[in-house]
Amino acid sequence: MSEAPKSLNFIEHIIEEDLEKGFPKAKLRFRFPPEPNGYLHIGHASSICLNFGLGLRYDSPVNLRFDDTNPVKEEQEFVDAIKQDVEWLGYKWNTERYASDYFQELYDWAEMLIQNGRAYVDSQSSEEMANQKGTPTEPGTNSPFRERSVEENLELFRAMKNGDFKEGTHVLRAKIDMSSSNMLMRDPIMYRILHKAHHRTNTDWCIYPMYDWTHGESDYIEQVSHSLCTLEFLPHRELYNWFLDQVYDNEKVKPKQREFARRNLSHTVVSKRKLLRLVEDGVVNGWDDPRMPTISGLRRRGYTPDSIKSFADTIGIAKRENLIDVSLLEFHVREHLNRIAPRVMGVLDPIKVVITNYPEASEEWLNAENNPSDESAGSREVPFSREIYIERNDFKEEANRKFFRLKLGGEVRLKNAYIIKAESCTKDDNGNITEIQCTYDPKSKSGSGTEESLRKVKGTLHWVSVKHAVEAEIRVYDRLFLDESPDTHKDKDFMEFVNPDSLNVIKGFLEPSLKSSKVGDIVQFQRLGYFCVDPDSSDEKLVFNKTVGLRDTWSKIQQKN
Ligand code: ATP
Ligand code: MG
Repeated sequence: MSEAPKSLNFIEHIIEEDLEKGFPKAKLRFRFPPEPNGYLHIGHASSICLNFGLGLRYDSPVNLRFDDTNPVKEEQEFVDAIKQDVEWLGYKWNTERYASDYFQELYDWAEMLIQNGRAYVDSQSSEEMANQKGTPTEPGTNSPFRERSVEENLELFRAMKNGDFKEGTHVLRAKIDMSSSNMLMRDPIMYRILHKAHHRTNTDWCIYPMYDWTHGESDYIEQVSHSLCTLEFLPHRELYNWFLDQVYDNEKVKPKQREFARRNLSHTVVSKRKLLRLVEDGVVNGWDDPRMPTISGLRRRGYTPDSIKSFADTIGIAKRENLIDVSLLEFHVREHLNRIAPRVMGVLDPIKVVITNYPEASEEWLNAENNPSDESAGSREVPFSREIYIERNDFKEEANRKFFRLKLGGEVRLKNAYIIKAESCTKDDNGNITEIQCTYDPKSKSGSGTEESLRKVKGTLHWVSVKHAVEAEIRVYDRLFLDESPDTHKDKDFMEFVNPDSLNVIKGFLEPSLKSSKVGDIVQFQRLGYFCVDPDSSDEKLVFNKTVGLRDTWSKIQQKN
């Protein structure tokens, strides 16, 4: 398929400009820098596609860098999950790096800053320091410890490192400008004491560097040329550059921080911290619950890397935040699954149909194409017999002319099988229909070439032979939140908007070819939607997740606008 050349996004424009000004293409380098404090979500997919996409476009290395400077929240489990997700999306990193690999180098540079009079140990409480911060319009106040001698600072900083002090007693601060109009430049903290074991460095360190001090220097160590982050870091750019200037050597590449807008998806939250609450409060069954907007949740739900990447590609990157409707993501999923998913039949809300003129002892196996629009997908056999299930809502005793499904006296075609006619139905004491009696036209078998087989009737229904049906648990999902933007309400916690009915577990009856399905298999239940086999499936019990329905809600939204 040939595609029109895509126009450059604004980050690519910045890079192109740098190349035009003489920056050597061979020195382009990127990184994707997750903090291992949770699982990746669909927002991260945008950043992954951006950074790794640049790597592919310019044939440049992209590192996977774990920003692991906060041992309190970070875990190996998250590192492993992040690696799995990036790989699953189909990207290859150049090297796997950890900010914690640079703890010694960062420490040595911090001592150098002290020696250059650019950093000092502050021994005030965090409240005292906060009180001196000033406001955006009023300058801050210098700490009484700001003028400590180099010797005293070095001695204290080394003692901090050696574990001589309790948490909260001292910090190392950069000595910049307490009256800067950028509050972040008002002597930011570089190190704090934390007597916590780190998932990689264990108890080697009891002081940990802050994000701002770590991030730019890590980019510098890795010689990242363009360090791309989300917009909330725009005011940090000045500090990023200040820290780089302290260690910068003219021979090397000075990384350039540039910002793009965070991607938000409707009816969910994209923040690891908030997703963690959903997990911890038991609203979902773990990070990979198919209702979660995590990469692992989407994978379990049946989303494919292709669909996630084409979604990320379509929304591109932006300079301003906005809300992306989740139906656009579903559109891309549907489009990909339409191309790859075999068609099968399953009935999720069954009502029994007895074909009274079909011999009781008979059964036959009918040929069914796996994908009518793709011959190479092959075909399979589905069993037909006297008793079948159809969907309850595919039958009405009486209906107007626009009802193309089954009604008393009316005909429909059973997919890949025969034309049947509804003759009568049976009801229970409450008036609920319990069984439909039909007759079939033996000459109307699909694909048999007879005149009757070519006869057109308005409706075609999916069905499953009762005695051959395989029972399965089907998990049908709804939006996780009832509000389209649950975490933007000033006076309400996002958890108040959780949809109490986001999971509906039902029993389905499937054609027997599905018996041998494997975890992760994706199929289209004809007329119902796309479904995939959940890891909870076993030989004894099949479990399917509904990935997405067939109806395209996105186009409808577009037409309305
Ligand atoms: P969270 O609040 O979910 O923890 P984060 O930004 O703190 O998000 P990081 O692990 O630091 O998460 O993110 C790694 C990279 O992914 C960063 O460059 C970050 O800017 C980017 N990123 C995170 N969330 C989004 C999003 N919603 N849209 C685009 N990029 C994102
Ligand atoms: Mg973070």
